[in-house]
Amino acid sequence: MDKKKLFTVMSLAIGLGTLTVLSDNTKINVSATDTSSVQKFGDINNDGFVDTVDATAVLIEYAHLSTSGKGTFTEVQTKNADIDNNGLVDAVDSAYILSYYAYVSAGGNTGFREWADEKINSSRPSTTTTTQSVQTTVSNSTTTTTTTTTVSGISKVSEIRLSKTEMKIEVGKTDISYVTMLPESATNKEEVWTSSDEKVATVDKWGNVKGVADGVCTVTVTSVDNPTVKAEIKVTVGKGNANKVSEIKLSKTEMKIEVGKTDISYVTMLPESATNKDEIWTSSDEKVATVDKWGNVKGVADGVCTVTVTSVDNPTVKAEIKVTVGKGNTHNFQQINGLTYVDGILVANKSYALPSTYSPEMDATTIQQFNLLSKAAANEGLNIYLSSGYRSYSQQDAIYNNYVSWYGQAQADTFSARPGHSEHQTGLAIDVNTIDDSFAGTPEAIWLENHAHEYGFIIRYPKGKESITGYKYEPWHIRYLGVEKATAVYNSGLTLEEYLGIDSYYH
Ligand SMILES: [Zn+2]
Repeated sequence: MDKKKLFTVMSLAIGLGTLTVLSDNTKINVSATDTSSVQKFGDINNDGFVDTVDATAVLIEYAHLSTSGKGTFTEVQTKNADIDNNGLVDAVDSAYILSYYAYVSAGGNTGFREWADEKINSSRPSTTTTTQSVQTTVSNSTTTTTTTTTVSGISKVSEIRLSKTEMKIEVGKTDISYVTMLPESATNKEEVWTSSDEKVATVDKWGNVKGVADGVCTVTVTSVDNPTVKAEIKVTVGKGNANKVSEIKLSKTEMKIEVGKTDISYVTMLPESATNKDEIWTSSDEKVATVDKWGNVKGVADGVCTVTVTSVDNPTVKAEIKVTVGKGNTHNFQQINGLTYVDGILVANKSYALPSTYSPEMDATTIQQFNLLSKAAANEGLNIYLSSGYRSYSQQDAIYNNYVSWYGQAQADTFSARPGHSEHQTGLAIDVNTIDDSFAGTPEAIWLENHAHEYGFIIRYPKGKESITGYKYEPWHIRYLGVEKATAVYNSGLTLEEYLGIDSYYH
């Protein structure tokens, strides 16, 4: 653990001597008027508290002394740091400070000197040091002397294992990670718990971690016996990370530009409250289009590539722009009786509606092909069945309005189509099996993802493509395109929207 990190561990404060005042269970302030050196016993940085900062300072001094033989403490600091008064500033002193800190954290109110005197006199382990010299005759002319020093009477903790190193808790809730001090034979398995930020989570002397407010902090458990041995838990408090970027919205997710020309998509990082809205732009193929750090996309040569913007704050959050460069990459749009066909494919999404009067019923070829698909899956012991097929405009109207009354329009729009915008009204879409998130990851869902195109279907709303398709991941919703087109879409790795160069949002 680095120094900087250690020094952030200072939320609890502990005072000294009999003049201390307990303000609550975890904080004791030293009387401001008392500046005698006795009062500074253990208070290495002279801030009026004996706490983990002091313990850390002692450990660092110990490291200085043991590596270079030179310390950095003043005479007074050295005196106040030698808790057990054995003429050394070492890890044992640090352990006493930590142990006292734990004692006061748990409500103890004896002054540090008094507490330390009692502790040192009563419980200091006895040690014996044995030095052995062994003479070994290796050959008839060489004699080697080996000296072995063994300290017996103490088996020190050398490792701390935790049952969990990450926690996600809500405000007011607690969690615990179980501790194993190793080796098993260690004589003192006492532990001290500290939180790097008690405004985010507190931890008591038994290791119960409690969420205080949304945020992230580190809870550290330290061996009292051997304070250089620690283990950490990363604690995340809150349902979401309110200050982290969780979504990137783009003003356009598709671009068509000519060679040498530029275009830009405006970025909105959400939530509004996110503290770091920095972005990184990358192009999947700089031979087709480049993108600069402000998001200006420039056509280089005819072709298609993907430009991605990533949150610096939360690199799992990305958004993509499909960039088509060149004049020849246009799609064929046709409007026939109020229906939109792109490259011959009937489109129904948030951008393109079907007339309320369009009621084709379920498409016969779609059903036939689905039956073949279902049979092929059955041959592999899988059960893929049709749960929902054709829906009329008025049925969708009822379904959508129901969802709006339950969830509100904004949320309903993420999973239910407004009337006229449902693909089910085309008679070419099918929902299989449970039609809910429990279907995701099942053997059936995996098989469907890999084989649907062989029967002419695509997974219409793939994972992570919500900003493009307009819908959350729906592994159960398949769309019939015919084997040739479905295979082409499947092989492209694109959504239908990307493949056809269209968007999907309510205009
Ligand atoms: Zn569906």
